[in-house]
Amino acid sequence: METTRRDFGKLAMVAGAATLFTPNIARAATQKLVVVGGGPGGATVAKYVADGSNGAIDVTLVEQNPLHTTCFFSNLYLGDFWELDKLTHGYTAMQNRGVNMVYQRAAQVATGSVTLDDGTVLEADRVVVAPGIDFKFDDYEGYDEHVAATRIPHAYKAGAQTQLLKKQLESMREGGTFIIAPPPNPFRCPPGPYERVSMAASLLKRTNPTAKILILDAKDKFSKMALFQEAWERHTPGMVEFVPGEFTGGGIASVDAQAMTITTKDDEEFEGDVINMIPAQKAGQIAIDSGLTGDGDWAPVDPVTMESTLVTGVHVLGDASIAGDMPKSGFSANSQAKVVANQVRAAMGDGKAFPPRFRNTCWSLLGQDDGVKVGADYKSGDEKIAKTEGFISQVGEDADTRQATAVEAVGWYEAITADVWA
Ligand SMILES: Cc1cc2nc3c(=O)[nH]c(=O)nc-3n(C[C@H](O)[C@H](O)[C@H](O)COP(=O)(O)OP(=O)(O)OC[C@H]3O[C@@H](n4cnc5c(N)ncnc54)[C@H](O)[C@@H]3O)c2cc1C
Repeated sequence: METTRRDFGKLAMVAGAATLFTPNIARAATQKLVVVGGGPGGATVAKYVADGSNGAIDVTLVEQNPLHTTCFFSNLYLGDFWELDKLTHGYTAMQNRGVNMVYQRAAQVATGSVTLDDGTVLEADRVVVAPGIDFKFDDYEGYDEHVAATRIPHAYKAGAQTQLLKKQLESMREGGTFIIAPPPNPFRCPPGPYERVSMAASLLKRTNPTAKILILDAKDKFSKMALFQEAWERHTPGMVEFVPGEFTGGGIASVDAQAMTITTKDDEEFEGDVINMIPAQKAGQIAIDSGLTGDGDWAPVDPVTMESTLVTGVHVLGDASIAGDMPKSGFSANSQAKVVANQVRAAMGDGKAFPPRFRNTCWSLLGQDDGVKVGADYKSGDEKIAKTEGFISQVGEDADTRQATAVEAVGWYEAITADVWA
């Protein structure tokens, strides 16, 4: 179709308007935010700043993988309640809303810049870092990334190791022993290892009912302990045995991948047919390499802005941060991200900062149509993010309540993944 004189006039007007407005947009968009980590923490910040600032802030999200597989609900995959591909999310929607996606590992962050693995330096007025966790392999003899990837998975970053663990559980010899070694505090998702026990028990009940599950814990107590223990007795009586930290000497000292044995700090050796060793944890390596953790394992932050107390202009959130009373969870990371998005925009001259409010709920599936939850509200105190009030499911709840909680958990998964990646 030919362009008529009238069309040409319209085009000229639009072009004129664009010329008129460009300087304003350009001036406003000189503020640059670079976010490292496209999990529920980082991706939520990128999305909310991009949407909220409406082009006034140029947002770049640096993520080392083109797809993110959520750890939350990966236990349900182990239990055969959820498909693995339902756990995987991409960044197309992020790109569509104007976020610049950089699929590369970031090597270091500093005040005003992010340096990528290939040496490229991205300049930034503010930096947000949400790299999740890494593992303290050095705390254990005989356990490293290679052993974890090939023989004794931790499966505490969802993906290939989660698939390996599932295959191992499915093909375990009849009446075999599955050993799970939960880590010392603090670690990602406090109920995670115990929901995993419930899901493994649920799978084994169908495929291998004489199997045993042995929990060699670093701790004496764990999140929702009474609720989990009640459920194990209800669904799979006698299958699960819990050995507390008191009797392991505080956890695991070494692993022998050839012999398939695991030795506690009390020097007691256990043999397993399948072993799930979940090591002690620390902030994602980039936080450590960038001086955000100081002498510790986690990044201290201001309780209002979540800006690092060690590196100015860099905010840390999610699992990598010390977020006061908040547990390390996807729900927490997403909640913190909305606060950080607001604080970052305000610090960049785009809008007003509001008093932070945080929330968390962790649901756990115990079996078919059987769920429990724990949660709390939090606010910023002078020293830390402090719990204000909380709730927890009760031992002995009726089947309808537990079913409603399980349904609620699925609704939460759909809602949070849409909030972060859609
Ligand atoms: C088995 C299990 C069950 C769980 N269940 C629940 C649950 O039911 N509810 C719940 O709320 N939470 C749950 N969690 C916890 C939840 O998964 C984490 O707390 C949450 O993912 C933390 O979000 P994050 O954004 O801080 O880090 P992550 O989700 O780890 O995201 C970090 C992202 O940063 C990227 N990254 C890291 N370093 C770099 C770098 N240098 N350069 C570029 N990219 C980088 C990573 O690739 C990743 O995509 C569970 C965890 C596990 C292991």
